[in-house]
Amino acid sequence: MIEVLGKRKKIVVIGSSNTDMVVRTPALPRPGETVLGGEFFMAPGGKGANQAVAAARAGGEVHFVARIGDDIFGRRSRDGFVGAGVHVEHVVVDEDRPSGVALIIVEADGENCIAVAPGANAALTAADIRKAKGLIASADIVLMQLESPQEAVEEAAGIASSAGVPVVLNPAPARALGDDLLKRVTCLTPNETEAEILTGITLIKNTDLAKAAEALLAKGLEAVLITLGPKGAYVATRERKAMVPAFQVITVDTTAAGDAFNGALAVALAEKKPLFEAARFANAAAALATTKMGAQPSLAARPEIEKLLA
Ligand code: ADP
Repeated sequence: MIEVLGKRKKIVVIGSSNTDMVVRTPALPRPGETVLGGEFFMAPGGKGANQAVAAARAGGEVHFVARIGDDIFGRRSRDGFVGAGVHVEHVVVDEDRPSGVALIIVEADGENCIAVAPGANAALTAADIRKAKGLIASADIVLMQLESPQEAVEEAAGIASSAGVPVVLNPAPARALGDDLLKRVTCLTPNETEAEILTGITLIKNTDLAKAAEALLAKGLEAVLITLGPKGAYVATRERKAMVPAFQVITVDTTAAGDAFNGALAVALAEKKPLFEAARFANAAAALATTKMGAQPSLAARPEIEKLLA
């Protein structure tokens, strides 16, 4: 594949790693209630880890910066990263905290209920990021989310922007973002809910999308991509705003669709594809992720993405 792709671009992903433990039930339990469920499955997850694996499958040379615990979950996650070709030199093993875990209950109709224990993820410090300074400064692109402490995200954005390295920030889960941070971000990728929370604008009409995108662009970003589930993504720069439609596929599980989108987007931008073409590439990778169950197991490889694009 390397011959086909030429030199892989260096993508540094900074973020969380969790183990998702999922039980399917006929209905979500109410407080105090026990519901006998169907099958149980466990799969590696966490937005950072999902996006790192997504970017590696999409053809990037990916380096992951994260913290895991010194336990069976951390070891399994790390093995998964190595198996996906993700470089793990900056995946720190935290001696004092357990690996991140997400307990997920999924109802028959797809509604879910999730409790996350961040564990080691919550201890990713600015000092961890500074240890990866050389790596970040030499990257083609840096990709982050908001499941990591603010100080880590800010430190990484600072190092990247000082070195002229573009930063893609997936503001998930949504929280208020300071103007200082947004000035250092090149590309922001909220989903519909996150865009509403960040801007206070309810997205009903197309004109609302333009308004929300303008409000975010005014903070100094170069591009805003609002992902809209089965509709695709609304892509906006100061010069051009347009919908990039989703690919029609047979969807079975939308878990990690957003992560697939972000991982693939980072690869395409690192390869210097124009923004709207990069968004189409990301839509293709994300659509494929909805055709299989689970988070990391559902992420598509480059040849599958190319095939859907063609
Ligand atoms: P998140 O999973 O973060 O909430 P979205 O639901 O907006 O994000 O989905 C992210 C991307 O995944 C979309 O922009 C689109 O490209 C793709 N996607 C999501 N659902 C579907 C679907 N049913 N069919 C095709 N593509 C989809």
